[in-house]
Amino acid sequence: MEYEKFSANINKNHLESLKHFISSKIGQTKSFTSSMVSRGVSNNKVDVGVKKLRAVSCFGNEDVGGNIPKCSHLMNSSTEGKFFCGACGCGDKPGTWLLSNGEKYSKLDYPKLSCPLNMPGFTNYIPLSVEGNVNHDPRKGLIEKLTPEDLEKIHVSIPEIMPKDQANQKN
Ligand code: SF4
Repeated sequence: MEYEKFSANINKNHLESLKHFISSKIGQTKSFTSSMVSRGVSNNKVDVGVKKLRAVSCFGNEDVGGNIPKCSHLMNSSTEGKFFCGACGCGDKPGTWLLSNGEKYSKLDYPKLSCPLNMPGFTNYIPLSVEGNVNHDPRKGLIEKLTPEDLEKIHVSIPEIMPKDQANQKN
């Protein structure tokens, strides 16, 4: 009898975790789907300032002399020189690479794009000071203190509006 109770509990807990897992996967898929919708048929893109903020949120700014390390969820792609977000659940493929070649559309170009950590530059950004902010990543506070001059040092390419020779080395 005790065993049956124990077994029923285990099954209940397992079912709950399974439900949670499935609903979080559905949430991630919905989120990226709405990003794709925001791209539209005319390849709408985020503006350069917002893309810079997103780039700092994911890649940090240590490569340009800053003190913001890269995100702990930033993953190396199996394709050399490419990166993807390990927390989004979208995997490693050209369509999910955070930055692409200068002339190609990358994930950070989507006008509407969510970050699992609600970091600056993303559509679901929650400032550190806002009540209910559950992301205590200290990097967020550092990014919020960036000045326009700091952001000026971040080079990102926006296809069609930036000449190729200014394209980011990271791309
Ligand atoms: S969690 Fe957010 S900041 Fe980190 S790599 Fe993913 S999208 Fe970028």
